[in-house]
Amino acid sequence: MTTLNTLSGCVTRYDPQALPVSAAQAIVLQWVTPLAASERVPLADALTRVLAADVISPIDVPAHDNSAMDGYAFDGAVLETPRGPEAETLTLNVAGKAFAGHPYTGAIARNACVRIMTGAPMPAGCDTVVPQEHVKRSNPDDGHIAFAAQAVARGANRRRRGEDLARGSVALHAGRVLRASDIGLLASLGLTDVEVKQRLRVAYFSTGDELRSPGETLDAGCIYDSNRYTLGAMLKRLDVEAIDLGRVRDEPAALAATLKLAAERADVVLTSGGVSVGEADFTRTQLQKLGDVAFWGLAMRPGRPLAFGRIWSGGTPGAGHAALLFGLPGNPVATMVTFYQIVRPALLAMAGAAPQPVPLIPARCEAPVKKRPGRTEFQRGLAHRGGDGQWRVAPTGSQSSGALSTMSEANCFIVLAHETADLDAGDAVDIMLFDGLV
Ligand code: AMP
Ligand code: MG
Repeated sequence: MTTLNTLSGCVTRYDPQALPVSAAQAIVLQWVTPLAASERVPLADALTRVLAADVISPIDVPAHDNSAMDGYAFDGAVLETPRGPEAETLTLNVAGKAFAGHPYTGAIARNACVRIMTGAPMPAGCDTVVPQEHVKRSNPDDGHIAFAAQAVARGANRRRRGEDLARGSVALHAGRVLRASDIGLLASLGLTDVEVKQRLRVAYFSTGDELRSPGETLDAGCIYDSNRYTLGAMLKRLDVEAIDLGRVRDEPAALAATLKLAAERADVVLTSGGVSVGEADFTRTQLQKLGDVAFWGLAMRPGRPLAFGRIWSGGTPGAGHAALLFGLPGNPVATMVTFYQIVRPALLAMAGAAPQPVPLIPARCEAPVKKRPGRTEFQRGLAHRGGDGQWRVAPTGSQSSGALSTMSEANCFIVLAHETADLDAGDAVDIMLFDGLV
């Protein structure tokens, strides 16, 4: 059978032990098949779900021409009638009122107007709204208003029927990861539910004899398992169905059993630890036994040991249910960096999401940066926007791949491209901010 390894070999610069990050991302995306299954969910449950099909607008939004202001609606033709300099003030007779939800249905004579509130349908024959702050009411009030003709142009302050969305047009495209505005947009079309992709199932577990769970006593030489919590949290953000399989000892049999169980229950399996070349590193060897390995090392820092392949629940290629497997490095920062840079785009693609690259922002280094050419580095940085509007960034102190505290301290990755060498203060770099607005 065609293996990942042979097919991946067609990718330029293929070196399964030190693959450039861009090549790894390309190989991974080649091996992703978007989920086919979809389900209908109510709008209230649709946030961050992936739209399974284009949504076609069943109505015009807005459904009728309406006023954008509180004011007076009238036929703007009167503005175009030639007037002498003495006639720059227009006087109109107020014929009635229109509120949102309560249209004015009567006829309107030329030189008459309707008191109108924001959102109220434009009365027949009216195409212009003069805002109330430009208007003087007659005193004593005899039902007339007056305003300077040049205060308003014909057609002003009127929202056109269908100007937001025309009936029959695509309101949202398949592959959209639904945001708050999208949920509102769907509601504005009168829809109560929406067809979304089924949630991707992602199983994950930690490996390592040294690991203890929070709440347990920390025996000599042991550490708390943080990766499982980091992974669980990052998966939650992506709104996948995350399956926590706990932690597994550094024993080949236990590892094989958990990998098979994971492949049976999930579309993607994430493991942490055991992918380097130490004597207790069994993830890669088990992956080679149970499945098909595309690569096991990246020209990347942190994140050099990263295994990617496919495993089968039956324990041999082709037997049972197949799942993609990412064997993430055990060092806590490396786990996070490889998740964000390699795993996240793959999970989104598999969940059916349209590709949406994370923006890179140009910045200037505030301090010298050490960088070895020949690998992509994702250093942790603290960025801020200077008074001149330019972004500046400094690496957080330690760049150790074990120092999770610097991930919490940082607000961005400093992305240093494959060929980049040491940088001086003031040099240009790209940053990837951790937080976005929506
Ligand atoms: P490994 O790749 O298994 O050799 O792990 C590399 C380093 O990461 C070692 O120092 C491990 O103790 C540490 N490590 C591995 N798994 C975890 C985990 N789940 N939580 C925190 N640290 C871990
Ligand atoms: Mg280990």
